[in-house]
Amino acid sequence: MQTRRDIVRTMVAALALPALPISAANAITHVAQPELGCGEEFPWFGAHYPDARCIDGYLWDLDAYDDGMLTSGGEDPCPYCNAGEFLAWKKDAIEEAGWIAFTDGETPMDNPYLTGSRFPHMTDQFQRMWSEGYRAAAVDPMAIEDRREALQKSAA
Ligand SMILES: [Zn+2]
Repeated sequence: MQTRRDIVRTMVAALALPALPISAANAITHVAQPELGCGEEFPWFGAHYPDARCIDGYLWDLDAYDDGMLTSGGEDPCPYCNAGEFLAWKKDAIEEAGWIAFTDGETPMDNPYLTGSRFPHMTDQFQRMWSEGYRAAAVDPMAIEDRREALQKSAA
């Protein structure tokens, strides 16, 4: 017979289960985007240490300065406070990577963003862009021909 003690124990255990995954997109809508110019510093211009700083929504190279002024940067949108522009800026390259992956004979599971990304708040969008490129190639006769050749070469 199930005692009240058992019932409570079961309820506590159920509440302790790992949280249901929340999509990143959902999570984002609950976090206000920082003001343009978040001041974030992180590795970006090729160094392993934080060599970029966001100023007014664009990244500046902290290793390039003269007379106390940063002299290089201001073109790359910040992936945090200027994420929309960042995604628009990267879109073509990511779609192209998906296209190339198709022509190289890779599978949809080779989408490099399925395992995450450097900017987790944009992983979903990265995945989708890559898939768009892959799918566009999959219905393009030239790309299909390129894929056939690549697969024949790798089989030989
Ligand atoms: Zn920023």
